[in-house]
Amino acid sequence: MKYFPIFLRVAGLRVAVSGGGAAAVAKLRLLLKTEARIEVYAETADPLIASWAAEGRLRLVPRAIGAADLPGLRLVYAANEDAAEDGRVAALAAEAGVPFNIVDNLEASAFLTPALVDRDPLVIAIGTEGAGPVLARKIKALLEERLPAGIGDALRAAKALRPAAEALLPGRARRAFWSAVFDRALAGDAAPGAAPLLDAHLDRAPAPGRVLFVGAGPGDPDELTLRARRALDAADVVIHDRLVPQPILELARREAEIVEAGKTGFGPSTPQDAINRLIVERARAGALVVRLKAGDPGVFGRLDEEIAACEAAGLDWSILPGITAASAAAASLGQSLTRRGRNSELRVITGQDVEGLADHDWAALARPGAVAAIYMGKRAARFIQGRLMMHGADPATPVSVVENAGRPGERIVATRLGAMAADLAAADLRGPAVIMLGLAPRAVAALASAPLSEAAR
Ligand code: SAH
Repeated sequence: MKYFPIFLRVAGLRVAVSGGGAAAVAKLRLLLKTEARIEVYAETADPLIASWAAEGRLRLVPRAIGAADLPGLRLVYAANEDAAEDGRVAALAAEAGVPFNIVDNLEASAFLTPALVDRDPLVIAIGTEGAGPVLARKIKALLEERLPAGIGDALRAAKALRPAAEALLPGRARRAFWSAVFDRALAGDAAPGAAPLLDAHLDRAPAPGRVLFVGAGPGDPDELTLRARRALDAADVVIHDRLVPQPILELARREAEIVEAGKTGFGPSTPQDAINRLIVERARAGALVVRLKAGDPGVFGRLDEEIAACEAAGLDWSILPGITAASAAAASLGQSLTRRGRNSELRVITGQDVEGLADHDWAALARPGAVAAIYMGKRAARFIQGRLMMHGADPATPVSVVENAGRPGERIVATRLGAMAADLAAADLRGPAVIMLGLAPRAVAALASAPLSEAAR
């Protein structure tokens, strides 16, 4: 190790940057995250530096740095983008015993600035001694992805609890407590915070469980949100819909209990009451329960019933949104869901409801330019087509049926309202499909007369 990493106190202390150009701006962006008293020495300074000076975030001295400025400085950056001037500043700093860094000249510098992952007060510094700055940036990207944005806040909250935990919990219990607190923080789960956990540890009661209603997106693991990934990483129990495919379930912790609660398709399904009971029972036993639903949990997901069960049991819960099938389907069609002059309204409807075929405001849906995403519409296609035409819809209205939107095996059936039911039956779709009324795939829409055919992708 040629360089020894340390965290140097700079709060309230003077740090100087010599230079006013792009290199200085880049270093200042970093330094401005600190509580140092920043001084910039430059005859001409980038307008950004001038504006930071005007905001009082740094002091701009409109001349070159001199020997008299050095005593009392904590650090100096030579960012003049001029080797001679940088050398002069480095020599001054060396003479005064102030550690210095010459931007982009590692060899001549006394210290180097690592790549930083900043979740203040958690700060991770990454250095390669100049061997591979690109690698440092890649590692930074990995960590940025892995660490929830709120982990700094969680850490600050934990710090406030430290005296209470030290006073109240004996060694082993204290370590278990902090481990539980930070498991949750790493899962991106700030609420309910550490205080209730501390209560639970004091009572020696099991830690209160928690339920996360997580959107799994259309089915490709790459379409999961970072929060969803973290939740899967931390879950003790994952209760998922049948529509959630294996590659996503594989992201769950190896020790996690995985339970399928089939609610979709036409096969046997788990009654809603049984699902509610399972969620409540596991969370009460202290588990972090991830209730994983296809798409977005708030779209035709019977979310409210499960939330009500959690509330009735006094359990904490939160919702992690996901990409709903309509968004994935529109993306595959290359179309927007709303468009100026075409539709300023988007309807998200279901083909089936508890009573069977669902009723809707057919007159509104039949209007020219109307766009609707019809979920669970395969078996209702004939009914929907009939109702819309009865209400005056143009049989030439474009319709795209997207099967397996945003996941492997995606197929698009491009048709028109008048032929929708027949084309759907002929296509014999086996996977989940969403009917996009009023939208043609962009490639098909570009043709003057769209063929009533299937465009396989
Ligand atoms: N919460 C889900 C919808 C659940 S209802 C969401 O936000 O997407 C189940 C219906 O969703 C299916 O019958 C189908 O119409 C639609 N669906 C879900 N995933 C889909 C996918 N990947 N491709 C096409 N349709 C899908």
